[in-house]
Amino acid sequence: MAGTKETLIDWLRDAYAMETQAIEMLERQTERLEHYPELLAKVREHKAVTDRQAERVRQCLKHLGTDTSSIKSGIGMLLGNAQSLSGIFAGDEVVKAGIFSYAFEQWEIANYRALIRAAEECGEPEVARLCTENLREEEEMARWLHDQLPEVTTTFLRRKANMQTAEAKR
Ligand code: MG
Ligand code: FE
Repeated sequence: MAGTKETLIDWLRDAYAMETQAIEMLERQTERLEHYPELLAKVREHKAVTDRQAERVRQCLKHLGTDTSSIKSGIGMLLGNAQSLSGIFAGDEVVKAGIFSYAFEQWEIANYRALIRAAEECGEPEVARLCTENLREEEEMARWLHDQLPEVTTTFLRRKANMQTAEAKR
């Protein structure tokens, strides 16, 4: 199929940009999570996971005889949103950050699902295998965020209420 491999390469470059963006976001989040030790630990862990994911995507491109250069600009609407939503992380809006992170993981999942199929269509099982490793890790992170969100919400609301009470007493 003419052009299919070019498409796979384009999408892998998009995925590389996606993971680079993820690393930045996760780094920024760790700066705001001192009151949420479990979340902080998980975000740090996923940052390390994400470093490896970017490396796997690079390996995929190398396997196809190319590299991460000429990454397409405007990789996607969600990244545009990621930029505009970065204000979310400015305050103590850990709940909004959690919701956004969950959506981001789902976006990564969908990207890898399409990539895996594209790799299969190209007869590139090694690329499919590496992308499946990344997919499993995104699914694990999405599940964790999904499960933790209610607890994080409780912690946030109680902290906020306590701070307001303390404020009122002054
Ligand atoms: Mg990732
Ligand atoms: Fe992820």
